[in-house]
Amino acid sequence: MTVRVRIAPSPTGDPHVGTAYVGLFNWLYAKKHGGQFLLRIEDTDQVRSTPESERSIMRAMKWLDLAYDEGPDIGGPCGPYRQSERTEHYRKHTQLLLDKGAAYRCFCTDERLGLMRERQKAAKLPPGYDGLCRSLSKEESDRRAAAGEKFVVRMKIDKSGKTIVKDVLRGDIEFSHVEIDDQVLMKSDHFPTYHLANVVDDRLMGITHVLRAEEWISSTPKHVLLYEAFGWPAPVFCHLPLLRNADRTKISKRKNPTSLDWYRAQGYLPEALINFLALMGFAPAEGEGSEIFDRAQLMARFDLDKISLGGPVFDLTKLEWLNGEWIRRLPADVLAERIVAWIANDGPAELRASAPPLDFVKKVVPLIQERMKKLSEWDEWTDYFFKESVVLTKEAFRRAKLPPPQLAAVVTACADLLAPHGEIVPTRDEPALRELAGKLGVKVGDLFMALRVAITGKSATPPLLESMALLGAAKSVARLRAAAKFLAESDPGEL
Ligand code: GLU
Repeated sequence: MTVRVRIAPSPTGDPHVGTAYVGLFNWLYAKKHGGQFLLRIEDTDQVRSTPESERSIMRAMKWLDLAYDEGPDIGGPCGPYRQSERTEHYRKHTQLLLDKGAAYRCFCTDERLGLMRERQKAAKLPPGYDGLCRSLSKEESDRRAAAGEKFVVRMKIDKSGKTIVKDVLRGDIEFSHVEIDDQVLMKSDHFPTYHLANVVDDRLMGITHVLRAEEWISSTPKHVLLYEAFGWPAPVFCHLPLLRNADRTKISKRKNPTSLDWYRAQGYLPEALINFLALMGFAPAEGEGSEIFDRAQLMARFDLDKISLGGPVFDLTKLEWLNGEWIRRLPADVLAERIVAWIANDGPAELRASAPPLDFVKKVVPLIQERMKKLSEWDEWTDYFFKESVVLTKEAFRRAKLPPPQLAAVVTACADLLAPHGEIVPTRDEPALRELAGKLGVKVGDLFMALRVAITGKSATPPLLESMALLGAAKSVARLRAAAKFLAESDPGEL
């Protein structure tokens, strides 16, 4: 049997991190077992589905390199892969259920259903359809439908029975049919509901394993009953633990960023997000000694029985750490290309407008690669290369811990030392500046801090001499002179 798995997101809103999480496990499972991974767009909710959302899902999957073998944009043998284009299949299958007596038309009006719900609430009864239209004869049902009366099609559940859902991770889960409503399968607009379309498509698309989020467990007995009604074998079900907020509620926008676009725009690397999402679902074996895994390593370690059921808490600090680790692991030239692409596609407008050339980014990358945690920190780490002058503050200079008159003198002495050179050569100039500190009777660290603030405006930066070499001797000296002037003009009491 060839493994065929799918993700079936609804294109409503931003592409969700949960889609990537479920997508990753499906992808891993398919690839590990030499199978196929499909993308199906479940857009039966005509009001909430949008083409932009669908596009953003596909873009996010591409960004994460979770390549699907079949999908709406690439087609495949079981297409179309967009439910709104498959209505004929649902209509035909609904008729099949009606013919078998496994489903019935329900003509109840919204008003009647509203009253019914109110009555159930008042009597503290569980909500659910009361079955009024179950007993309509075939003739009456056909006649009313033919007369154009509005109806939905409901599933006929034998309330005395029970259904067992077999879940790979949880074993058998029993559902008494009393808990299962006569679910609507086809709405009055002749669009299917999730349940019908999902089951029909999983069957017609040859899905062998349904790996989806835990929140769908309560729908699964309805699906099992539908498979039975059609006379089809059910696929294997495996419900993945939900991603959770720190308070253990289901991950939500209010408490965590959930849009994959946000992660891309923040400069997270797909490798890091994939690694992170994998760790959310399964833990590396004892003694691994590392949490950094690429796809090949994940594939080698993953199988369904490795998934841990404890609700994984989404921890952005951990993701940021992993991202830094992945940034450090990229070859410098590749990181430079990623930065340039990130600026072009996701960078803030100002940065995009004055995007640095790749050659220059390649020179800067070795200085910042060890420090950077997200691509979006590019500007923060490197802005002083691109400005004509930097903003100097007394607060930053205070970090040099030198009394004000000496501070100006130290900066001037540094400028004088470097001015005769056409370029900064770290191996030559750093020892020279250390020696200068000795001559001036100040600590080496304090001299370099004064120099750092004068050149960059900041007290924490990439390696200073290398940065000055890139900036060039003329600009570096000019900044030192400007800083000396700033210091000389500042009220010493404030420094
Ligand atoms: N359309 C459902 C969703 O939005 C699919 C759930 C499933 O995988 O069955 O997640």
